[in-house]
Amino acid sequence: MEHRTARKLAQVERSATMALADRARSLQQSGRQIINLAGGDPHFGTPEHVLDAAQNALAEGFTHYTSSRGLPELRKAVADRLSRRSGVIRDPEHEVVITPSAKHAVFASLMAVLDPGDEVLIPTPSWVSYGQMVRLAGAQPVPVPLFAADNFTLSRELLEAKLTPRIKAIVLNSPTNPTGRVLNASELRDIAEFSAAHDLVIISDEIYEDIVFEVNSHRSPAEYSECADRTLTVSGFSKSYAMTGWRLGYVSGPRELMDAVLKVQEHSVGEAGSFIQRGGVAALLGDHSPVQHMVEQYDRHRKWAHGALSQVPGIECALPEGAFYLFPDISALGFSDSHACAQWLIDEAGVVVTPGSAFGPGGEGHIRLSLAPSTATVEAGVNRLCDVLSMPR
Ligand code: PMP
Ligand code: GLU
Repeated sequence: MEHRTARKLAQVERSATMALADRARSLQQSGRQIINLAGGDPHFGTPEHVLDAAQNALAEGFTHYTSSRGLPELRKAVADRLSRRSGVIRDPEHEVVITPSAKHAVFASLMAVLDPGDEVLIPTPSWVSYGQMVRLAGAQPVPVPLFAADNFTLSRELLEAKLTPRIKAIVLNSPTNPTGRVLNASELRDIAEFSAAHDLVIISDEIYEDIVFEVNSHRSPAEYSECADRTLTVSGFSKSYAMTGWRLGYVSGPRELMDAVLKVQEHSVGEAGSFIQRGGVAALLGDHSPVQHMVEQYDRHRKWAHGALSQVPGIECALPEGAFYLFPDISALGFSDSHACAQWLIDEAGVVVTPGSAFGPGGEGHIRLSLAPSTATVEAGVNRLCDVLSMPR
């Protein structure tokens, strides 16, 4: 009976963000007054025109299988958006696949490129699922720790230092969850040259592409001539359009890689939900003022929360450039580690945050606060944090 589950799963941890979301829900259900700043889920409703499109699709009986690649009009909208924004040309027929969530798009991309024994570079702090997904594919994550003192800047030297002959791919995420960094031109140039020199596949998770606080600051590695043929670009609807529960995302890339992604999709989930995809078409082609409105609110949250936390003696906090998280350094506050700090904050302040250690070796010494809840929740949560962390312990 010892080996009834796959050995590779022995190395895989539960999603720290999802486990914490469950914890916050159960604390709330048990009657505790909890302020949840853990999850990356926008408090906004999904825009009306998106709801209407999905409701109309349901009313029309649009409730059957679609092409496994996704609705042609949605693939075209994705390809048009890519070419408009970054000049990257992908054929909607063969080079775009609509997926049930960006999470599945990352997973299918990794399954499409990795063999057992391969290794994957992951600059950290990084989103909790990349390393676990690499392990699910039978490969090994190789973290590339970045340093808070350098504002988590990525460089060719840091990448070269972790290179082994087994490295097959690199996972990038900009704007970055949890640090809020947006990769700049010099970092992207380094990545492009490094990936070309070592013939690596780039999996570029750009799910926060719309949430940047300086116009046009988000750039994609696929824009670089060395990278166009080696990059799988992932994005989705959860963050930009407040559609986390819809489970809708997409991946685009060169045909050879996309044919492999399609095989994974066809033999796992099949495709994304039909009426859900109609909502996606409305999101991409419809009025974008709701996105603008949300980004403006995240901008106010980040400035206010950054200002408030920076007043707490011992806390260092960079102002995020994108995404909707704050990632303060709490290492001078005397906790044994970030997990202990997060636990103490639940007990003492009733505020749930994510310990930085969940984001890999580069994340220890930090906590992550989500700025996606409502203004009232963010203000109440951050005020409580500031109060308890300013008190002598
Ligand atoms: N990538 C990053 C960096 C994220 O923060 C998230 C949020 N869950 C995802 C991918 C997945 O998004 P979803 O599955 O909701 O499309
Ligand atoms: N991306 C969000 C987060 O980091 C949602 C949870 C998840 O999918 O990991 O909190």
